[in-house]
Amino acid sequence: METLTQTTKINLLGLDEKAMQEFFHTLGEKPYRAQQVLKWIHFQGVSDIQSMTNLSKALRDKLQDIAEIRIPEIAYESTASDDTHKWLIRLADGNCIETVYIPEKERGTLCVSSQVGCTLNCDFCSTGKQGFSRNLTSAEIISQVWVAVRGLSQSGTLHDRAVTNVVMMGMGEPLLNFDNVVSAMNIMLDDYGYGLSKRRVTLSTAGVVPAMKQLREVSDVALAVSLHAPNDELRNVLVPLNKKYPLKELMAVCQDYFKEDKRRHIMMEYVMLAGVNDTPAHAKQLITLLQDVPAKVNLIPFNPFPSTIYKRSDDATILRFREILMAAGINALTRKTRGDDIDAACGQLVGQVKDRTRRSERHRKSIAQAQ
Ligand code: SAH
Repeated sequence: METLTQTTKINLLGLDEKAMQEFFHTLGEKPYRAQQVLKWIHFQGVSDIQSMTNLSKALRDKLQDIAEIRIPEIAYESTASDDTHKWLIRLADGNCIETVYIPEKERGTLCVSSQVGCTLNCDFCSTGKQGFSRNLTSAEIISQVWVAVRGLSQSGTLHDRAVTNVVMMGMGEPLLNFDNVVSAMNIMLDDYGYGLSKRRVTLSTAGVVPAMKQLREVSDVALAVSLHAPNDELRNVLVPLNKKYPLKELMAVCQDYFKEDKRRHIMMEYVMLAGVNDTPAHAKQLITLLQDVPAKVNLIPFNPFPSTIYKRSDDATILRFREILMAAGINALTRKTRGDDIDAACGQLVGQVKDRTRRSERHRKSIAQAQ
């Protein structure tokens, strides 16, 4: 699980209950130790083993020799005019990732990253243009929740409940970092961890079909799919992963994703790009595509970034698109743009990525040539 440790000590931060129990089993300790330590780390926000006072001194000393709770450093943080808050988190290897907190009246949503950069290169997403460095460890994923909960509450413990929802919608494609994302989500759901309900933790995917099938078997979190186009021709351009897993396959897995619970829906995300995917004809194609799928549609006004060729659809176009869907009985919402004055909005998260794909270099060159 921990592949990039700078020390040889095991980082307890990223262990879910099962992994923590296995760890204590190897020490000859009882399984309930796992729950005690999870509670100290995630509920109480303790990062010092000696503060875990319901463990014997001997056990604490033993733990301290072989384990630690390693929290990454906050490189920078800022608050937008609408109170959206962004953290730039520096990892042990110098890469940086971004995490965003979006407060609303009834809830507080944390947008969590799963990779440093992204391999998918969606045409309208600035994270994709940064290239890719590596997967995050489970500790690095859950540390974003740890840092946010501590940063947002006065006491530093979980009691204040500022974070009520988590969406895996930050940098990266979560299903291409399957095991570490699932472990981190297990901690979010665990009563000894963050105690969030399965409806309040959402994994968002560009449509990695085999991994969606696998996810359904191991986790019952909510699912969002970045759809963005109602036909293969357009989706191949906007979301190149579509060439590997075309709409027919994607819709087939969506159709019976929540077959045990008919009340659950998949959130289809659809970024509104002026003149590209936002006409009434596109809306009608979308209705046909979704006719047998338990789906809600979330229309996302495009958030521009330097060098993009796309423009945001205007409000009247978004409203017309939404009304066509609603008239066909599809529940559609328009996502409010939040945090754009600090580049914390959807698709604007870039972190600081040591790009191994050289994509960011090619992208910079192509911009320079075009100018
Ligand atoms: N890779 C996953 C997780 C990223 S989620 C996925 O594709 O679902 C981030 C969401 O914001 C996705 O729906 C993504 O398509 C959308 N997005 C990306 N760039 C955007 C932009 N510039 N404006 C608005 N939404 C964007």
